[in-house]
Amino acid sequence: MPAIIYKRILLKLSGEALMGESDYGIDPKVIGRLAREIIDVRNAGVQVGVVIGGGNIFRGAGLAASGMDRVTGDHMGMLATVMNALAMQDAIERAGGTARTMSAIKINEVCEDFIRRRAIRHLEKDRVVLFAAGTGNPFFTTDSAAALRAIEIGADLLLKATKVDGVYSADPTRDPNATRYETLSYDDVIQRNLQVMDTSAIALCRDHRIPLRIYNMSREGDLMRIMQGEQIGTLVGG
Ligand code: UDP
Repeated sequence: MPAIIYKRILLKLSGEALMGESDYGIDPKVIGRLAREIIDVRNAGVQVGVVIGGGNIFRGAGLAASGMDRVTGDHMGMLATVMNALAMQDAIERAGGTARTMSAIKINEVCEDFIRRRAIRHLEKDRVVLFAAGTGNPFFTTDSAAALRAIEIGADLLLKATKVDGVYSADPTRDPNATRYETLSYDDVIQRNLQVMDTSAIALCRDHRIPLRIYNMSREGDLMRIMQGEQIGTLVGG
């Protein structure tokens, strides 16, 4: 088996990634498969932190558009990410791994609080750490939370798992001439407004020089292949 080139990664999964073919909630088959892929890379020696979004349940901006107070909507969105993290914790443990959910907002009966040094200790003990409740603040997204946690835990790579094969010059489902970028600089992404992650997340990655790879999570085994150094998807860095 090719050697693993990363020691510690932060994987960002959108809430929508958990829905599979449905338009709401969590598909047990999809979360089970993602859990097994995470365990495989963990068993290969990679320490894994995960940030999960909440868009499959609630998004603050969507709730605000239908009249709700935005901060309340964002609180609901953050709680949605906690539910997704608990579902992933359960899926990982049922598949034979160990996992800990750490929340940026305090809900101690349900999961641990996010404490950076404790999170690092869990990673060192081979537990998958699920970072829930985003940054803990309204008006942010889980993309920003992923960049923040990746920097805090000293990850060597931030991965964003999506439904497309990387970053394209145009929407590949609409434009047959759309081409995939193999690499991009942080400034390319910001200046050309490429829809990779929100700008605050990209700026955090740039300022702290953390490489970001965007890849298609529906292709089984790609997470492991990336750990082995294969150039899959699009790498943002430099
Ligand atoms: N959210 C927030 N602060 C954060 C992270 C998330 O208020 O630091 C809320 C926000 O309402 C967001 C929702 O949680 O819409 C779900 O997160 P996100 O939209 O990033 O999920 P994804 O699109 O990745 O599924």
